[in-house]
Amino acid sequence: TPMAEHGAVVVIGLGRFGASLARELTSLGVDVVGIDRSEAVVEALRDELPFITCADATQDAALAELGVAEASRVVVAIGSDLAASILTTSRIMRSGHRRIWAKAITEAHAEILAQLGVKQIVNPEDDMGRRLAHLIRGHMSDFLRIDSDYAIVRTQPPVRVLGQPLSALGLRGTHGVTVIAVKHPGAGWANTDGGTVLEADDEIIIAGAPDAVERFSALDK
Ligand code: ADP
Repeated sequence: TPMAEHGAVVVIGLGRFGASLARELTSLGVDVVGIDRSEAVVEALRDELPFITCADATQDAALAELGVAEASRVVVAIGSDLAASILTTSRIMRSGHRRIWAKAITEAHAEILAQLGVKQIVNPEDDMGRRLAHLIRGHMSDFLRIDSDYAIVRTQPPVRVLGQPLSALGLRGTHGVTVIAVKHPGAGWANTDGGTVLEADDEIIIAGAPDAVERFSALDK
């Protein structure tokens, strides 16, 4: 019988990226079935990930044994071996599975995956590099780009917005940002409302156009 049961996620390639993805999914309570062609990789992860196997994912038989057809999602996390990534992905696409996520390590790799019909392509190094650029240049402790025209950022409130309720500040009009959550020192995160008053040492989450959230985060700097 195939390893993956309905609802499971198959992770193909358990390198640094695939392994950390598989661990996080497992900790979220998702059933993860993993495969890697390296015996050493599989042995090292055996205790943490109960359903892993050592096989070459470019083989149809290995994919069938994994239960790719039964899985709710499949992640091809093979990066540096371009041929293996493409072969595996094309086999899975050919089997009719459409919920595939695939990792690309170059622009050309991403292009080929897109041509194969993969809708969800991730380039972790590229994404991380871009994200880090915003953190390094700006004054934000976290930056999430939703689209080219929208971002969500974790930062500290500029001094000029302290002590007044958000409804009186009108930040959407003046700065193009929405303060969506606040964390007072020692407390948990809470959604804001019009009556929320920001204080020194708070952390906030703001949303808006990337240049607007960056400018707002840098107001005191
Ligand atoms: P990372 O940068 O996340 O470590 P890599 O691309 O270097 O990613 O590693 C991918 C993993 O995929 C490696 O552990 C490698 O053994 C595995 N892998 C590569 N080709 C295959 C294949 N055909 N079948 C199964 N696993 C594979």
